[in-house]
Amino acid sequence: APIIDLKDITVTFKNKTSTVHAVKNVSLQVAKGDVYGIVGYSGAGKSTLVRTINYLQVPTSGTATVNGQVMGQLSKNALRLARRKIGMIFQHFNLMNSRTIAANIDYPLRYSDLNTAQRQKKVADLLTLVGLQDKADAYPAQLSGGQKQRVGIARALANDPGILLCDEATSALDPKTTQEILGLLKHLNQTLGITIVLITHEMAAVKAVCQHVAVMEQGEIIERGSLLDIFSQP
Ligand code: ADP
Ligand code: ADP
Repeated sequence: APIIDLKDITVTFKNKTSTVHAVKNVSLQVAKGDVYGIVGYSGAGKSTLVRTINYLQVPTSGTATVNGQVMGQLSKNALRLARRKIGMIFQHFNLMNSRTIAANIDYPLRYSDLNTAQRQKKVADLLTLVGLQDKADAYPAQLSGGQKQRVGIARALANDPGILLCDEATSALDPKTTQEILGLLKHLNQTLGITIVLITHEMAAVKAVCQHVAVMEQGEIIERGSLLDIFSQP
């Protein structure tokens, strides 16, 4: 079974004056170990769709089954546990600026079963994994954009998730740094087997790391397939 199985997902935003059909009856399956790119213009519904995977966005209708669990059927506590196994990184990193790099990475471990020594070891290991061993006591403002995103990745991996959702994770970075971060994501996929869903408007990012691609437009997937299928058409 696919590790991510979105079935007939619709998300409609309604307020007093307008209705936005952000996602319209979309189904998407991602196999374990895949790197799946979601591309399309701004406003196409990419972020809304991907946020239904960890239920940061509850769909108006449809079913999200992730790691074998139907997200919409989980209790509040079970949903919290399920979310720990789905890491997420963001365009603007979302770090806590008043806290050190180590504290930022440690933050998702605050409810874990690990004791203090185990948490410190875990944070040290994560810092090493993303190449920031010497930055434990630095603050986010002292880091470059690429380093901040490495912290975002380390934090996202703190609870050993099998899935990493990347929402425009390289869009705020220059081309060289983008390549470095994409290289790190590819490495995590290949060495740890992490399944990655990568939202981007940058075709170069897709070509560099993705095995499969879905193209979204106006809330729908208008095309999907392997990287070769999508890019080798006449
Ligand atoms: P993308 O990630 O492809 O840029 P989004 O999923 O962010 O697209 O947005 C899809 C559509 O849904 C857009 O028209 C956006 O304005 C709208 N939208 C997204 N989130 C909300 C929200 N919380 N409330 C109202 N409309 C929203
Ligand atoms: P303190 O213990 O110093 O009060 P907290 O750990 O409670 O700090 O977090 C400080 C603030 O950062 C809180 O408002 C919290 O909601 C926010 N915060 C926590 N985690 C994140 C995150 N991953 N991204 C952005 N903000 C966060």
